[in-house]
Amino acid sequence: MPIDLRSDTITQPTQAMRAVMAAAPVGDDVFGDDPTVKLLETRVAELLGKEAALFAPSGTMANQLALRALADSGDEILIDANAHIYYYEAGGPAALSGLSCRCLPGIRGIFTAADLQTALRPPDQHFPPSKIVCVENTHNRGGGSIWPLHQLREIETVSRHHSLKLHLDGARLWNASAATGTAEHEYAAPFDTVSVCFSKGLGAPVGSALCGPRDIIQRARRFRKMLGGGMRQSGILAAAALHALDHHRTRLTDDHANARALADGLASLPGITIDPSSVATNIVLFNVTPGTAPQFVSTLDAAGVRMLPFGPHTIRAVTNLMVTADDIAAALHIISSTLESSN
Ligand SMILES: *Cc1c(COP(=O)(O)O)cnc(C)c1O
Repeated sequence: MPIDLRSDTITQPTQAMRAVMAAAPVGDDVFGDDPTVKLLETRVAELLGKEAALFAPSGTMANQLALRALADSGDEILIDANAHIYYYEAGGPAALSGLSCRCLPGIRGIFTAADLQTALRPPDQHFPPSKIVCVENTHNRGGGSIWPLHQLREIETVSRHHSLKLHLDGARLWNASAATGTAEHEYAAPFDTVSVCFSKGLGAPVGSALCGPRDIIQRARRFRKMLGGGMRQSGILAAAALHALDHHRTRLTDDHANARALADGLASLPGITIDPSSVATNIVLFNVTPGTAPQFVSTLDAAGVRMLPFGPHTIRAVTNLMVTADDIAAALHIISSTLESSN
């Protein structure tokens, strides 16, 4: 079995998770008949401190539903240039909601209230109306970075002053909370809507949720149907998410410790550049020289360690439920020999 560090999406449902999925009471959720989906939506809304929640097939759909529900065609969203919504959602904001993206210069995905202030323009017929500020916490391309709570509150102050809505892409919000002890609802408080994923570090096979005010979630439910995301006996999937919330949330700190060990080990290897202190959660970004990231990743793959090229020289490794501390030690051993033989 290769040691798979490509993503925390590669996790397989555990036997215990499969058992609760098999036993879940289900119904037709488009008719509002699925008790397990309802239970999950109530549970997640509570955890995030919002009125309502909507189960969605993916984090991408949850994010896009939020944009569609909060803005009108021709509006603009303000977002970090490396954010998932802008970088990895196939042009969804433009294609699905008619939105343009005004990109902010985040550092490791994190921008300041001053950056936001600078990007805002006065109302004028020349300018697209600014409508939503999007934040990603933790930040994927930022290397799993965590937003400081005070900085979120500063963003909120500027946004509210300009009557902007706020959306949080919290696909990995669970990791931020596990790492800092700050509850999910505290991170969520400055935002109108929040998306969270069950299929990343939490280890469920499928599913995300969008949380927010009841009327916005109601709108999002209609758009979910429009996009073909209305699911039937989806309690099977919701059961996995509920199990993950109960059993896989606190263990995320194991992933963080493994990521730290990987980063520390990598830092001692020649040909690798990394700042281990930048590793805040389960994502490790590092640079490799000489040779390119795709070359190194493919050599490593053949040796039994899987990672993702993330730039010409940048590689991403993500620790997850399937990877133990022993696997990290073994991976470091393999990386070290791979570097030696390629010199
Ligand atoms: C993975 C991810 C998503 C959603 O991804 P899906 O594969 O559509 O579930 C959204 N935002 C961030 C930051 C992510 O890392």
